[in-house]
Amino acid sequence: MRKKLAAGNWKMNGTAAALEEVTALAGAHPRPVADILICPPATLIDRMATVAKGTAIALGGQDCHAAHTGAHTGDIAAHMLADAGATHVILGHSERRTDHGETDADVRAKTLAALDAGLVAVVCVGETEGQRDAGETLNVIGTQLAGSLPDEGVTGATVVVAYEPVWAIGTGRVPTIEQIAEVHDFMRAELAKRFGDVAEGIRLLYGGSVKPANAAEIFATSNVDGALVGGASLKAVDFSAIISALE
Ligand code: PGA
Repeated sequence: MRKKLAAGNWKMNGTAAALEEVTALAGAHPRPVADILICPPATLIDRMATVAKGTAIALGGQDCHAAHTGAHTGDIAAHMLADAGATHVILGHSERRTDHGETDADVRAKTLAALDAGLVAVVCVGETEGQRDAGETLNVIGTQLAGSLPDEGVTGATVVVAYEPVWAIGTGRVPTIEQIAEVHDFMRAELAKRFGDVAEGIRLLYGGSVKPANAAEIFATSNVDGALVGGASLKAVDFSAIISALE
C-alpha cells in the first residue's frame, strides 16, 4: 500500500551541466512503479523543474527556514522552494544537524513550515557510531523522531522519514539487514503509538551508502519503503539501477 520512493540527495553538487543526468534518468523511467525524487542544490531547482516537467521526477530542496520571510541572509523559505518547482524538502539531515547545529526543535519548526507551504517533508534521523557502540541507537532514534515531527499535519502524504546512520553516510559502510530492520520496525511502532493508523502510510527510507549493488537487499528489508541516496544519485546510470531495484 505504501508506494516506494527513491530519493536522491545531491548535497552541494551540481551545476547546469548536471541537468542532463535528469534528462537521462527521466528517459530511463518513463512510467516508474516507484516515486522518484531528486533534491538538487537550491540554485538548480528552477532550471531542473523545466527539464523535469512532464516526467515522473519530482524535485525537492535540502533544507528550508522555519520562517515565511524576513531578515535571514542566505536562507530560503519553504514556499520559495515550492515557487521554484519543489514539491518536497529534506529536513534535519545529519550534515545540517552537525554543520549548522540544527536541533530536533529546529527540525520540527522547519517541518511545520514545509507542511504549511504544501511541501512533503523528508525528515532525517540517525545515530552516530559512538551512540550505536554505546547501545543507544533506539533511544536516539526515538528521541529524534519525537522531537523532529510536529503533532499536527503528519500523514503518509505529507511526511517521509529517513533513517540515516551517521556512520554509514558517504563511508561505504552499511548496517546489517538485521540492524536496518530493527530500526525501521522500531520507527513504525513509535509512529503508530503517536499517530495511530496514519503511521501505516508513512514511508520509511533507509539512507547511507546505498548503491546499485546493495539496493535490492536493503529494499527487501522489513518496513523499508525506499532509499535516500547521496553519492549514487548523482549519475543517472547509478540512480537508475537503484530505482530499478525497487521495481
Ligand atoms: P550517501 O549519502 O548515499 O552518499 O551515503 C546519503 C545521504 O546523506 O543522504
